[in-house]
Amino acid sequence: MKEQLSFLIELQKLDLIVGKIIGKKGELPDKILRMDEGFADSAKSVEESKKKFEELNELQGEKEDKLRKGIDTLKKTKDRLLEVKTNKEYQAMLKEIETIENKNSEIEDEIISGLEEIDRMRTEVKTKVKDFSTHRSQYEREKEKLEKEIAQLDHDLQEAEQRTAALRKQIRDELLKRYERIKGRRNGVAVALVWKEVCGGCHMNIPPQMYNELQTSVDLLTCPNCNRIIYWHSQGENNG
Ligand SMILES: [Zn+2]
Repeated sequence: MKEQLSFLIELQKLDLIVGKIIGKKGELPDKILRMDEGFADSAKSVEESKKKFEELNELQGEKEDKLRKGIDTLKKTKDRLLEVKTNKEYQAMLKEIETIENKNSEIEDEIISGLEEIDRMRTEVKTKVKDFSTHRSQYEREKEKLEKEIAQLDHDLQEAEQRTAALRKQIRDELLKRYERIKGRRNGVAVALVWKEVCGGCHMNIPPQMYNELQTSVDLLTCPNCNRIIYWHSQGENNG
């Protein structure tokens, strides 16, 4: 029975390890997904800024075109001024020139503020491209690390599962069934160490007489409080 108990203790340790590995493995794909999304977001943000910068430049080109045409129109109108015959016509022409000049001056103002906006956007694009490059190498490094971690967990899991399967074969059927039953009811822990009369599973005291019995008995004992299979071993040198 002592040997069977030691198998159960080992099985319990392995089952907890397997549970931990599965839990960890379950978190990692989500972590990678969030990283992928973050990376895609910054790539998008860089592209949007670049696009905005191009659009601003295009708009600026259109305004410069408009100004060139405005200056041209102004020159032509001034030339026509020489050909007018009446004062009334002359006054109308002056009015027209003033309107064109005002319009041109408006476009000039727009071009100047456009240049400021373009400068600002150029700096933004530069900063974003630089940040993105930092983000990219960080992202690639982290992702590689996580993928290695997943591979390691897969390996550990496989190993633990093989050891578990081998161990299960050595445990008597009805004992294994009992173990699984308690495990299912008691949060995955069916076997608990008792130390100084306290059950490691439920942290309640067990009767002193039972504690004495536990240290000498060859029978399997269970905690009167949580029903877990309990065991004892000297904690002098070994804390496990
Ligand atoms: Zn207990």
